[in-house]
Amino acid sequence: MHDWRSSLGEAVAGCAAELRFAEPMARHTTFRIGGLADAWVRADDPQALACVLRVCREAGIRTWLLGRGSNVLVSDQGLRGVVVTFGGKLAEMRLERDKEIEGLPAQQQAGQRDKVTEGSSEHSIPRSLDPSIPSWLLCGAGAALDEVATFAEQQGLTGAEFLAGIPGTVGGGLHSNAGAFGRSLGDIVTGVTVLDRDGSESVLTGTQIRREYRRPMIEGGLIAVEVTMQLQGRIQGLRDSRGPAPDTGTLESSTPGSLSADQIRKQRWQKHPTEPSAGSFFRNPEKDGERIPAGKLIEQCGLKGRTIGGVRVSEMHANFLINTGKARFADVYELVQIIKATVEEQTGILLEEEVQYLPGPNEVRRQMPEARSQKSRVGAANGS
Ligand SMILES: Cc1cc2nc3c(=O)[nH]c(=O)nc-3n(C[C@H](O)[C@H](O)[C@H](O)COP(=O)(O)OP(=O)(O)OC[C@H]3O[C@@H](n4cnc5c(N)ncnc54)[C@H](O)[C@@H]3O)c2cc1C
Repeated sequence: MHDWRSSLGEAVAGCAAELRFAEPMARHTTFRIGGLADAWVRADDPQALACVLRVCREAGIRTWLLGRGSNVLVSDQGLRGVVVTFGGKLAEMRLERDKEIEGLPAQQQAGQRDKVTEGSSEHSIPRSLDPSIPSWLLCGAGAALDEVATFAEQQGLTGAEFLAGIPGTVGGGLHSNAGAFGRSLGDIVTGVTVLDRDGSESVLTGTQIRREYRRPMIEGGLIAVEVTMQLQGRIQGLRDSRGPAPDTGTLESSTPGSLSADQIRKQRWQKHPTEPSAGSFFRNPEKDGERIPAGKLIEQCGLKGRTIGGVRVSEMHANFLINTGKARFADVYELVQIIKATVEEQTGILLEEEVQYLPGPNEVRRQMPEARSQKSRVGAANGS
């Protein structure tokens, strides 16, 4: 019998792709948790991606998009179907500077490309350093957010520094409108090239892109392939002369644009635990129009250091649940129920997960039949 594994193997053999069967997802998530996926494939160019998606579609096999696995918690029972991740050409970045020069013939645009005269002054400055002229950065969805920040800075652009140190990809970042230091992808993304499950390509712009706090920017089921970001030229020295923003204790509240990518990375190292995790586990809840840091609520409820099996509420940052070595999905799930119930009981606020459960919240709940009620868990956790 010719099963889907053979078809996938044969199809991928001629493509720019790597394929593995029975692949531990713990290897592909920053939490280092997750059972076996039936198959894992890294597509390195659009043809390979199209080929994998076609084989899976025809065989009726489920596909799971994965970036760096830094915002997911995968079940110990793994994933049925094919995990698809992007590399090679699908992770490349390039710059376009001339999109905005409208109404000029092509020859004149070429002449404008490298220098722009500043007002009536005789001095000309490179376009990349002119803050009044936007530039467009086109990023493959597999590009690392941290590399986007570095690349943009190297090109003399400002606006993407806040992405420095976020350990995910551009495609994964769209799922949660990733951000820090008061800025998020929604502030700079102007277009997203997507494939639907049938493999048809389209470009989303304007209001087709959602920009809410830590919510998906594109519809579920769409596959992001390329993202366009609008950035600005940077006048050298301007940022440095303003100096670092005052430290208000949270990554979210610093003055946007006032820190370089390196300064941002440094702040992260100082404030984020280094053990395996999925970053901030809960969204910061909104109260009276303000976001309250979930970590502060968890800390106020005395939950720092609370441990279940191999997972612990970080002492350094209470919104980080850290894998102390051999954490299982079930440990994290149990600790999450305790945190949610305790915080709700003590503050009246129900925390909502930012991290995404795979294969999905309902499947995961079904896989946890032995789970006790939240209330009894709180009792157990409190030693009562
Ligand atoms: C130490 C640490 C610090 C963090 N700090 C921050 C922070 O400051 N701010 C912040 O916002 N987040 C932060 N995160 C969370 C995480 O890094 C971001 O959410 C990141 O954008 C997720 O990207 P990823 O590639 O890892 O996505 P994954 O976790 O691999 O996937 C997340 C979701 O995106 C989907 N997806 C992935 N690629 C595509 C694609 N091409 N098309 C469609 N869907 C896709 C997946 O299917 C999944 O649903 C942190 C995480 C860690 C571990």
